[in-house]
Amino acid sequence: MSETIAVIGAGQMGNGIAHVFAQGGHPVTMIDVSAEALARGRATIGKNMDRQVKKGTLDAAAKDAALARLTTSTELGAVAGAALVVEAATENQALKLKIFADLDQMADAGAVLATNTSSISITTIAAATRRPADVIGMHFMNPVPVMQLVEVIRGLATSDETTARVMAWSTALGKVPVEVADYPGFVANRILMPMINEALYCLMEGVGTAEAIDTVMKLGMNHPMGPLALADLIGLDTCLSILEVLHSGLGDPKYRPCPLLRKYVAAGWLGRKSGRGIYAY
Ligand code: NAD
Repeated sequence: MSETIAVIGAGQMGNGIAHVFAQGGHPVTMIDVSAEALARGRATIGKNMDRQVKKGTLDAAAKDAALARLTTSTELGAVAGAALVVEAATENQALKLKIFADLDQMADAGAVLATNTSSISITTIAAATRRPADVIGMHFMNPVPVMQLVEVIRGLATSDETTARVMAWSTALGKVPVEVADYPGFVANRILMPMINEALYCLMEGVGTAEAIDTVMKLGMNHPMGPLALADLIGLDTCLSILEVLHSGLGDPKYRPCPLLRKYVAAGWLGRKSGRGIYAY
């Protein structure tokens, strides 16, 4: 019997993480404070699995079995019984510290407590618990069922055993885990976000239209998506939070978030998830 996995957050990352673990044979409990988010998350998993069935990468019986392994709850206490908890709630440090303090009370002894944070310090999150050796970053990429990478981030106190377990779970899902150290933005967003921010400055200064900027990067650099379309996919609010962590954590003005990004987020133009971002959806 495969180990039970709990996923906290049913947003675009949470439902993707629940999807791949359920498909990988694990009983999965997806937890969110919003019942509506849970219903949307489950529907998205169903839709994405239907697409896999159509493409011939998943058979219909396997899809039904995977969906049958997925349960949902609005109570954090539903993490009981899970060998691995993957937190994928909103990118906000205070919120994550509260969730991990609560997990310390509610999760099984010996469970691995992982966070999918894009940028927040694993060491800081771990310090909200009395079991920092069991806390680790397990950073999936968006869209989770498609992207191969899992960035595995060790906090200062993360044990070798916790790291080995997360590497093994990732590999069993068919992903490629890469271990990195705990500095703001880790590797993925330390490199990606300055590029997205620079694309926003180019847009703000009128160096090019959004379409022009994205086309230059797609055709000129062979990127599968332009940086502005990618920012909309990630979520502009998430991009802003990550840039703020880079800016304050590394103290270098080169990470200052573009004022145009702040303006879009203030307007509620968050990208694909809100129907409007740099582009309209
Ligand atoms: P999202 O806005 O799509 O979803 C966040 C979900 O968290 C919402 O459904 C919300 O209701 C839920 N939530 C908020 N507070 C909660 C709580 N206390 N308990 C349980 N659920 C709660 O965000 P997302 O894009 O899925 O991002 C989630 C995490 O994944 C963030 O830490 C983000 O940085 C990280 N991440 C995002 C991407 C990306 O491309 N969007 C990629 C990698 C990692």
